[in-house]
Amino acid sequence: MGKNERLLADEDDAFATAARVKYYNIVIDSGQGAEITDVDGNAYIDLLASASATNTGHSHPHVVQAIQDQAAKLIQYTPAYFANTNGAELAPRLTALAPISGPTELAWGNSGSDANDAIIKFARAYTGRQYIVSFTGAYHGSTYGSLSLSAVSLNMSRKIAPLLPGIVKVPFPDPWQRLAGESEDAFVDRMFKAFTLPFETYLPAEEVAAVVIEPIQGDGGIIKAPDRYLRQVVDFAHDHGILFAIDEVNQGMGRTGKWWSIQNFPGLEPDLMSVGKSLASGLPLSAVIGRQEIMESLGAPAHVFTTAGNPVTAAAAMATIDVIEQEHLLDQSRILGEKAKAFFEAEQQKYPFIGDVRMYGLDGGIDIVDPETNAPDPVATTKLIYRVFELGAIIISLRGNVLRFQPPLVITEEQLNKAFVILAQAFSELAAGQL
Ligand code: PLP
Repeated sequence: MGKNERLLADEDDAFATAARVKYYNIVIDSGQGAEITDVDGNAYIDLLASASATNTGHSHPHVVQAIQDQAAKLIQYTPAYFANTNGAELAPRLTALAPISGPTELAWGNSGSDANDAIIKFARAYTGRQYIVSFTGAYHGSTYGSLSLSAVSLNMSRKIAPLLPGIVKVPFPDPWQRLAGESEDAFVDRMFKAFTLPFETYLPAEEVAAVVIEPIQGDGGIIKAPDRYLRQVVDFAHDHGILFAIDEVNQGMGRTGKWWSIQNFPGLEPDLMSVGKSLASGLPLSAVIGRQEIMESLGAPAHVFTTAGNPVTAAAAMATIDVIEQEHLLDQSRILGEKAKAFFEAEQQKYPFIGDVRMYGLDGGIDIVDPETNAPDPVATTKLIYRVFELGAIIISLRGNVLRFQPPLVITEEQLNKAFVILAQAFSELAAGQL
């Protein structure tokens, strides 16, 4: 089977579509900043940032130095029994950055998935309640707990059922749920009604431990929850003693032009949050951070993994935070994100197959649709992402028909402009029927 045929196989399976990047048939050998190079020496502009895990770019010299220095000193001693200097220094730095006022604590993990499992554990332990509410379109990870919270990869989840009991899914207010001619206000009212429906019918609010949400969904298509909607959800939760928990694994660490995506909703604060991916520039380190009383509810040993928060990953995380601060990457994300938004909106004017364009900092989702029906067009999307790859940039799709635009925040203007030239060429070739 040729590469293109392989790309188009299984197109009904959104998860396979998302995983299709492996059909690019490249083996990545090295990376520097926003550029990666394969084993054959071909260079690509990385518009994926290793799935938002390398916001500070590939092999940033400051991060590399910190890792090398620490590896020569001490690679591992389990934080389950003794503190290590880096972990002890990182914890207060990270909790100080967290958007939670009052005393907070954290527990380390090795992946975003286990950090989201931790949210379930801490929320249940603290409240003594069983149920958790999460959202359609969410992706929270691949462990049983985090996959049970998720709803993007239904085919896979079906194969391993039963999932964790007690998790109730409500519809995420994504733009595809909006009816023709429906105003934003009417849409928000209708979606909030859908949120409360389970509570009015079969779900006792006093048995719900937490609502878990990505304030800006990542794998669901880079979609920001409407502001008023999220505020109503948080008010409802707090009125009923339900914790408000957020997943910042994909959208945190500066991706949206703020440290955390929840900061795009001024005044909203989570009770619990998960962090991972770019926390240690892609080394396996995650954390669940929460209000102190919640984090103390599990008792000791609360939530430990032998290698979680080890000295090397903690050193990498501190260097990552340094880079974000010293290189003003939050500003960079906002400024370059504006340029990217302007580029995609200009292309949208030219080509009716470009549907909704969403961009929050350097965090973009661009819908590719059938111009006649406005329906998702995974085939055109797949052709585009393959052509972009051939022209020298790496981009993948979400949900089958959303271009995922998440370059490292250190991408230079020159690299960004080069990526725009590549994307513009692919769009024009698709329009001309050449793909
Ligand atoms: N949460 C979100 C929002 C994610 O996007 C992901 C991964 O894509 C995860 C959690 C899982 O993180 P990990 O793959 O590190 O387990």
